[in-house]
Amino acid sequence: MVVNNTEFDAIVVGSGPGGATVARELSKRGKRLLILERGGNAPLKGSLLATASIVDAVSVGDNVLMGRTLTTGGTTSVYFGATVPPPLETFLALGIDLSRELDDVERELPLAVLPDELLRPHSIRLRESATALGYDWVQSKMLVDQSKCASGYTPEARWTARNYVQEAVEKGATLINRARVLKVLVEKGRAIGVEYELQKTKKESEIRQAFGTKVIVAAGGAASPIILRKSGIRNVADRGFYCHPSVMVFGTISGLKRGDGFGASMGTLIDGDIHVGDGNFARTLYQLFMLANHRWFRAFLHSKTIGVGVMVREGLGGGLQENDRYYKELTKEDFRKLEKGEEVARQIIRHAGGKNIFKSVVGASHLGGAIRIKEHLDENLETECSNLHVCDGSVLPENVNTPTLTLICLGKYLAKRLSRSL
Ligand SMILES: Cc1cc2nc3c(=O)[nH]c(=O)nc-3n(C[C@H](O)[C@H](O)[C@H](O)COP(=O)(O)OP(=O)(O)OC[C@H]3O[C@@H](n4cnc5c(N)ncnc54)[C@H](O)[C@@H]3O)c2cc1C
Repeated sequence: MVVNNTEFDAIVVGSGPGGATVARELSKRGKRLLILERGGNAPLKGSLLATASIVDAVSVGDNVLMGRTLTTGGTTSVYFGATVPPPLETFLALGIDLSRELDDVERELPLAVLPDELLRPHSIRLRESATALGYDWVQSKMLVDQSKCASGYTPEARWTARNYVQEAVEKGATLINRARVLKVLVEKGRAIGVEYELQKTKKESEIRQAFGTKVIVAAGGAASPIILRKSGIRNVADRGFYCHPSVMVFGTISGLKRGDGFGASMGTLIDGDIHVGDGNFARTLYQLFMLANHRWFRAFLHSKTIGVGVMVREGLGGGLQENDRYYKELTKEDFRKLEKGEEVARQIIRHAGGKNIFKSVVGASHLGGAIRIKEHLDENLETECSNLHVCDGSVLPENVNTPTLTLICLGKYLAKRLSRSL
């Protein structure tokens, strides 16, 4: 079935921070937008079952999984809200200046270091321990609207990409949920629309097509390379990908107040590419994590558990196989870095008073590098196929972690460029 023939100026595939920002910016400029989102649009209730129903795991290696979220707003629906400024120099070297966009974002969004009253007591205890041990434990700015926290912590105060999707819809954008884009339709080297599967009921789906002047693929680090490859773009993931391997270390702690607060907002960098940080997140995500790690009993000890996260940067490697599965073997050097981070994590937890220390299995934080600016994309984030652009985690260089702020800037940058020609 063909719908909405040439009705749209742009079709945005995926509604995470990359896609949502492009959609919001173009709608604000009066462009006709279609947003196709694979996940549903149910309000984020925060219960264990509701969260489990939107979280998905992508395998990137032997027993190494990366978490993502399939719903309006993408993975920001469960993220912590921590930010790191975009690496402006790296982007400048790729021909992209994000400095204006960063200024705009800092003006528009609630971006600030949170006061201790809004943090989990566990995070504060860790900070005391890490600084006493001599680590430079830096607190990052959070995307949290503190005006909503007059009576304390509330998860709704966190900015998510869903906010931008709502703004886009208010400005006239069409959002279709449960619409999984299969490929971009290409004619004579030019993108003209997309083919997608619309899940009408649990059992019934239908293949549809939609047409627009520009197509922006923003389905996330794992999905976008697959869509591009199915659309005939050559050499996707030809140098492999990175996935920032990670491990969580936990200990039992007593005497700390119960209750939630914002976590995961501080940490330190060791030897340039080992990030050791606060791993005390909100109850639901904590429970889900423990259950996924088969720590059934531990799942109910949120207030008695203190956590530190370790994430390391690694080089490109592995590949995207014919069956659309990612595969990468971590190197000895990757494991050495993880072990070094784990040692530091154990030291900080012990010094904080933590006991019975244990670690999770190795996971992956963020998949990127399969689509590369200056190799697969030009400085307009456009592929070899004209009118086909990519704007999500898949295009970020290796030195970006905590990517949301960078993606918002990149989305604004792309929208400015696109609106000139629409
Ligand atoms: C537990 C956790 C905590 C995190 N905390 C932070 C943090 O504090 N700060 C930070 O900066 N980052 C954090 N991140 C990472 C951050 O959330 C992601 O890097 C970011 O959301 C990636 O944005 P994206 O637009 O590339 O993809 P996503 O946010 O994953 O969005 C992609 C969207 O595309 C949709 N989609 C997928 N396939 C298709 C398809 N075929 N057709 C249509 N739609 C499709 C998905 O449903 C999804 O909505 C965290 C991640 C996790 C898992």
